[in-house]
Amino acid sequence: MGKTDGTSGTVNGSNGALDEGLDVLASVRFRRRRPWPIVLVCMVCVVALVAGGLTWMHVAYVAAQSDCESAISRRDSAVVVYRRALTKATSASSITADDVKDASVVTALGKAVSSGRLSSSQLGGGSPGCTGRVMPDRLRERARAADRSSARARSSARALASAAQKVIASRDAKTLSDAQSDLGTLVASANKLLDYSKGQVSDDATRTALSDAIARATLLVSEHSTASRSATSLASTCREQYTALEKAIADVSDSITDQSGVDCDKLKCIALTFDDGPDSSSDATIRDELERLKVKATFFMIGNTITSSDDSVIARDAKDGNLDGNHSWSHPNLTDLEADDVESQLVKTDRAITDAGGVLSGLVRPPYGSWNDTVRNQAAANGDAIILWNIDSEDWKNRDATTTTTRVVKSARAGSIVLMHSIYQSTADALPDIVNQLRAKGFTLVTVTQLLGGSPKPGWVYYGQHDMIHLGQTKQVEE
Ligand SMILES: [Zn+2]
Repeated sequence: MGKTDGTSGTVNGSNGALDEGLDVLASVRFRRRRPWPIVLVCMVCVVALVAGGLTWMHVAYVAAQSDCESAISRRDSAVVVYRRALTKATSASSITADDVKDASVVTALGKAVSSGRLSSSQLGGGSPGCTGRVMPDRLRERARAADRSSARARSSARALASAAQKVIASRDAKTLSDAQSDLGTLVASANKLLDYSKGQVSDDATRTALSDAIARATLLVSEHSTASRSATSLASTCREQYTALEKAIADVSDSITDQSGVDCDKLKCIALTFDDGPDSSSDATIRDELERLKVKATFFMIGNTITSSDDSVIARDAKDGNLDGNHSWSHPNLTDLEADDVESQLVKTDRAITDAGGVLSGLVRPPYGSWNDTVRNQAAANGDAIILWNIDSEDWKNRDATTTTTRVVKSARAGSIVLMHSIYQSTADALPDIVNQLRAKGFTLVTVTQLLGGSPKPGWVYYGQHDMIHLGQTKQVEE
């Protein structure tokens, strides 16, 4: 029992502890039931945090997207500016060192174009836009990339525009200085003509007009370009005044001729002659220039080069007062041929000229200036005088307008026959300067027939108005 009691006592003792434990348990249960609102609060907090976070992320995304779009828009504008500058610089690259006053600007532009050319990727080509499921960080990175492209494009555009502008300015300066230099040269010539023509013109108003044109030109020669008057505009005025001065010179020249008649014993006459045509566009240009400058000249044509397309050029010679001469059928050295062949060369060419609407002038120029008795006799039989020259422009050799002009003008003397060729553009280009400068030196430009007093004699060989060989003589005589 005692054991039981003891046990019981123990049990009783145990029951007390149990109750206590149950109480604790109950209190714990009670406590576990009570935290739910806290959990709820926590959950609300978490939801709020997540929602807040999402909202913040959305706001950040929208801001980054807007920055990105602005950066891309700036980049697109910069690329447009860059492309315009590149186009302008590339087009300015066609200006050569010869066209500018300072050749170094052309080299600098070449370098600027080669180093300033940006690749498509450098300009942001192929880069993603500002949309897509990406983090704001990525959008901001795209904005920074677009800004880097903008900076590169703007910097290149500035360098290209500046280099191109320097080339264009240098070209304009050269255009102006060339125009002023040309005008200055013509003024110097015109002043001589003004002195020379005193008392020699039929109409004194032409000299007054020349004097006025010289005065205007003289002012222009020393004028500088300003902000309100660009170099190109001033250059173009100089060119206009050049044309006006040319016309004034031509009018005085005409008036001198009117006054005296075309009497090459009294006037300082010179005859321009053109060989080897017609076979190129320069033949038409030369006739246009002669008409504009009111000058008559003599053309020695190769028969087998005359085609129906040359009819209009040849037919206008008679109307314009130019002479058509015979330069053989196929341009052989006539001294190598038998008499019959020489005759054939002359006759066939005469026929080709008349068939084309030309008028025969009774003038023949043997190719290479080569002649002998056979040639001379055949020419005489064909009713032709042999016309050689005493000034060779060497246009066939130099093919340069300035060299041709200088050579002719420096060698010119009264009674000269000048050899030129109508088949070179450089000769066509030289013609206005040759005419103006000869006129300014007091020369009257005439046809070969006018130079030779109206009646060159068949079979005679003429080198100039005063240098000739009579038929039957072998020595050159001065008359
Ligand atoms: Zn020839």
